[in-house]
Amino acid sequence: MLVGKIAITGATGQLGSLVIGHLLDKGVPADEMVAVVRNLEKANPLKQKGLTIRHGDYEDGQSLVEAFTGIDKLLFISSPSWDNTHRIKQHATVVEAARDAKVNHIVYTSIAFPHEMTLGLEHVHLATEHAIKTTEMIYTFLRNGFYMDLLVNPGLEAMIQSGEIITSTSGGKLNYVTRDNLALAAATVLTETDHENQVYELVNPNLFTYDQLAAILTDLSGKEVKHRDLPPEEAYRQLIRSGVPEGDAAFMVHGVFKSIAQGQFSHTSDDLRKLIGDRITTVESAVKQVLSK
Ligand code: NAP
Repeated sequence: MLVGKIAITGATGQLGSLVIGHLLDKGVPADEMVAVVRNLEKANPLKQKGLTIRHGDYEDGQSLVEAFTGIDKLLFISSPSWDNTHRIKQHATVVEAARDAKVNHIVYTSIAFPHEMTLGLEHVHLATEHAIKTTEMIYTFLRNGFYMDLLVNPGLEAMIQSGEIITSTSGGKLNYVTRDNLALAAATVLTETDHENQVYELVNPNLFTYDQLAAILTDLSGKEVKHRDLPPEEAYRQLIRSGVPEGDAAFMVHGVFKSIAQGQFSHTSDDLRKLIGDRITTVESAVKQVLSK
């Protein structure tokens, strides 16, 4: 397979590791891949797979210029920093380094439907998309939906045990998508042509609600799980009572649940299907996988 040298930032993270797995499955030789990491020790498993490891830190532009030298396609995985203002600086550093290293094509993990979002994260991603557009580099924006994994994970057992899911989502719909589906979409873009200067809204076309999640949990566990869709202040109090830390409860109720209630996660697109076909994971199959472990 002739794809040119591919570099992946965030290669030691969860999404980056999955992308590398899919690239290897697609037949990209390990020695055509460069894992750009801030912690060389953490990259040992990737080194054992035959990837080239280079040091690159979003805080250090020169390290990134060196890491990106000779790279044809760069998968730039967004920073996990919670400080959105600082994150924009880190991202600008990465874009500037890619430009200076003469990367041909930059593939960036953005956020789905940023113009419809009010969580604050959308500003980071739009700013980064704009920064990339100030350069001559070919781009592909993978506007990733929210990870289903953040909801469908071993924490479901606690919902089954308590018999309830507490939200304040007013029956709003979710277009969450698994990290693995997003990783496969990224690997597809990195190994195919015709994705130049494209913007993909990568959300799950199979929308679901918390009522449906409760029904799936009931069905699969054999124990009744009810969804209590409460007014925001009541949901906040209930979450605190059930042991959720204050900051997390506030973010869930006044951030995520509010956005869901307002329909910000109900937008759909066929872009993911175009990239990964029928391999899209529904919430039901994701729950089955988690509960069978
Ligand atoms: P993750 O597992 O936390 O991985 C983040 C990666 O970024 C790690 O490899 C980390 O390196 C690397 N990194 C952090 N700071 C860096 C720096 N200063 N310089 C270079 N690399 C640095 O996150 P993920 O699950 O793979 O998700 C990928 C990205 O998607 C996140 O970073 C975040 O921007 C975004 N995200 C999306 C969602 C969603 O629902 N769509 C949810 C959460 C986050 P170390 O291994 O050394 O820490």
